[in-house]
Amino acid sequence: MRLTRLKGIGEATGQKFASLGIERVEDLLFHLPLRYEDRTRIQPMAQLRFNRPALIQGQVVRSYTTVGRHPVLVSEISDGTATVALKFFRFYRSQQVKMQPGARIRAYGEVRHSLPLPEMIHPEYLHLGASEPPLADCLTPVYPKTEGLGQKVIQQAVAQAMQCLQQGRLSLEDFFQQNDLLPAGLPDLHTALRLIHQPPPEVDVPRLLAGTHPAQQRLILEEITAHVLAMKKLRQKVQAQAAPRIRLNPASWNAFQKRLPFTLTTAQHKVVAEIARDLDQEYPMQRLVQGDVGSGKTVVAAAAMLAAADGGKQAALMAPTELLAEQHATTLMQWFGAQNVVFLSSALGTAERRQALQRVASGTPLVVGTHALFQESVRFRDLGLVIVDEQHRFGVHQRLALRHKGSEGSRVPHQLIMTATPIPRTLAQTAYANLDVSVIDELPAGRKPVTTVVLSNEKMPQVAERIRAACARGEQAYWVCTLIDESEMLRARAASDTAELLAEQFPELRVGLVHGRLKSEEKNAVMQAFKAGDIDLLVATTVIEVGVDVPNASLMVIENAERLGLAQLHQLRGRVGRGNRQSHCVLLYQPPLGEVARQRLDTLRRSNDGFEIARVDLRIRGPGEVLGTRQKGALQFRLADLERDGHLLDEAQRLAPRLLRAYPQQGEKLIRRWLPRHDELASA
Ligand code: ADP
Ligand code: MG
Repeated sequence: MRLTRLKGIGEATGQKFASLGIERVEDLLFHLPLRYEDRTRIQPMAQLRFNRPALIQGQVVRSYTTVGRHPVLVSEISDGTATVALKFFRFYRSQQVKMQPGARIRAYGEVRHSLPLPEMIHPEYLHLGASEPPLADCLTPVYPKTEGLGQKVIQQAVAQAMQCLQQGRLSLEDFFQQNDLLPAGLPDLHTALRLIHQPPPEVDVPRLLAGTHPAQQRLILEEITAHVLAMKKLRQKVQAQAAPRIRLNPASWNAFQKRLPFTLTTAQHKVVAEIARDLDQEYPMQRLVQGDVGSGKTVVAAAAMLAAADGGKQAALMAPTELLAEQHATTLMQWFGAQNVVFLSSALGTAERRQALQRVASGTPLVVGTHALFQESVRFRDLGLVIVDEQHRFGVHQRLALRHKGSEGSRVPHQLIMTATPIPRTLAQTAYANLDVSVIDELPAGRKPVTTVVLSNEKMPQVAERIRAACARGEQAYWVCTLIDESEMLRARAASDTAELLAEQFPELRVGLVHGRLKSEEKNAVMQAFKAGDIDLLVATTVIEVGVDVPNASLMVIENAERLGLAQLHQLRGRVGRGNRQSHCVLLYQPPLGEVARQRLDTLRRSNDGFEIARVDLRIRGPGEVLGTRQKGALQFRLADLERDGHLLDEAQRLAPRLLRAYPQQGEKLIRRWLPRHDELASA
């Protein structure tokens, strides 16, 4: 049913609802409240509690405006048990006139402590006439809003939708109940929706607010099942496509390994074997390789690239930053020979770029770059494999776009995705249910866990001592400046200032500087110098966050670490501890430290385990952020909180295939109910 069929919703309002993803009346029912307000009973003023919302009713005893440039309207109302002051910083003259002593008022708002009287600032209120309007008979739901759509409009629209449902004018299929799939203890869909949108006053409010009420759990189970179904479909869709079979030639792979300065870990071997098996199939590989920072993902990717190159196919490696792409290009040139690698840098001049594109088009086997790889102008001759490094830094759509790029008719390239952000099991089962997952669960031998200390800025002299000591031993150090949320220019300036200060403080050290404002060649020159050991202390912005690999660096100092998130700090710290000497990380913070920041820093101090850190991160930030897909909204849950609702996953995993097998069309409808934009994603 179209939304505009409802009273009070014209085209313009309809558009605004559409921006919330609400296009049909049915969608309204799944726009669920954030919280509830209790307007079912009037509270005696003498029993009001501070900082809680309340509905009160009484008579105006006195009304006045304060004097001054910004007059405030104050109306004191009493119900005989106590008096409360209603305050309005903005008001109309007519409003003031109507607040006569004796006027009867009903007001809803948060009660705040104030002297001489408790107050409500800008409460909602109405004047009571001879007859009093009835009190609400259920709790008032408060919905997520959008620009230009008031709470009232949303509430009324949902109430109408509920009415349509109850009168049978709107039919809403209950996919679980119809098919006898509803787990015991959970209500049917109508009952659940009624309880959520119109909870009776006696409902278990704390449970409702916590999202653990059976009515909510019922909907959450639907949502998770829809996600699982959507991912299964995405996977089936990809597997229905054709990909070139690529074989990893054992002789060639052995020869390659002989050229490496190290031997692969068991975990690396295992993952290479999994990849090789996938590549040797007629449908595209979709494999996610998880491995903590420093676990050696690059060489695993190289095995896949070797297989592609040997098979006469091209492989594209996409990195999230220019710096990392450059580093990969250098590594690959060492491993495969410069003639076999094209680096598509944004820093190339016109002529160089043309030449690079020409080499890509003529079939040079390995192509490395940032997301610029999937620009229109880049044409591959025969792309057989796409590798995305540090996937969490890209949106889903960028990834899909690159895969799309290599498609030729119905043929699509194999896809390998690498991430150092380990994904907790619960997330992997939903958001990544369309991928096969390999884990490099072992670090190269000889690595020592980085020891981490958390220090207040006031302890700077201690830090200076550590830097001196490390550099005196011939080791190297990073100093990371963390000005965030400012322009690249300000960040660069802050880093330059710091570099200058540190150069003064450590005249005996060679201090280098790298930030996002440097030209690509300049950045590379600095990184090369650091790698070569010609710089002792590298001052950097967070541009060095991902991938940068300088094994001789053993000390990492992060300024204002309290400003960064867990995943980012863990990544940064991963820049050290890459060789076999003991490495240290100093997290500096500016006191006082907030509670969440303290938790974050403490987690890092205690743990080097990416999985453990990711679990805490998931708890603190939620799945959308952790996956880096928030902006796309594609993998965002509306209701489910995987930490809280993880227990429903197994149930959803059980239900999804049953629904898909027995009632494929219903599965389809269920997906559309919860993921209206799913098709866009699937066809991207
Ligand atoms: P990440 O998983 O963080 O991408 P890299 O691929 O950058 O890790 O590898 C980190 C460092 O470890 C590199 O210097 C790499 O050459 C080295 N390395 C990789 N595998 C091994 C191994 N099996 N033994 C020793 N060193 C290794
Ligand atoms: Mg890496």
